[in-house]
Amino acid sequence: MAIEPAITCGYCEFCRSGRHNICVRSRFMATRPRWTFFAKYAVVPAASTVRIPDGMDYVKATVIEPLAVIMHVIELVRIPVGSTVAVIGAGPIGVLTAAVARVAGASRIIIADKVRHRVEKALKLGADAGVYLPDGAAGGEGEGPHRRTRADIVVDAAAKSETINDGLRITRIGGRFVLIGLPSERELKIDMHLAMGKELSLQTIKRSNHTAHPPSSCWSRARSPKPW
Ligand SMILES: [Zn+2]
Repeated sequence: MAIEPAITCGYCEFCRSGRHNICVRSRFMATRPRWTFFAKYAVVPAASTVRIPDGMDYVKATVIEPLAVIMHVIELVRIPVGSTVAVIGAGPIGVLTAAVARVAGASRIIIADKVRHRVEKALKLGADAGVYLPDGAAGGEGEGPHRRTRADIVVDAAAKSETINDGLRITRIGGRFVLIGLPSERELKIDMHLAMGKELSLQTIKRSNHTAHPPSSCWSRARSPKPW
């Protein structure tokens, strides 16, 4: 079984309206103060599990949960066929985002990271262009291919003030900026003029929303009258 790491109540306003990922009583089981899922055994509601397909090994199955997060992004931010998508951060989430964007119909995918081998890996996996940013962000208004980029959709999987500002800068007028990474700081220094001047749509993400579950289990959970 693959397991969704948040236990949700099943009866709050958001669980009942099909948005259990923003449940007001959600308990995330894979970080402090709960480390439940780092134990050898854990008890979880059946609705928080999804059967691993026959023939899929456990290593590949580890991708199910992060992939569900990205599928949730795709639900909230439709990627138009032929669009340009820029992904900041070429870790597992960023690379998966690039791969899903391709399947969704993006025709040009650009990915950036401060670690060179991650950029190279993303290029091997199908990104059209890679940008190596050794200082973690481009910063300022200098020259460079990333400066001239104008993406329809920018997804930031790095979530630093610098990367967010860079992302806002390279999003085209009227485009969409998605923050999928979780910032390490509580407060960020964001230049909102970059977003407002181009009337960008800003989208944040919280985990996934039934995107790893078959519709039948989604429906049964949404209708459940009892807390788990
Ligand atoms: Zn709930």
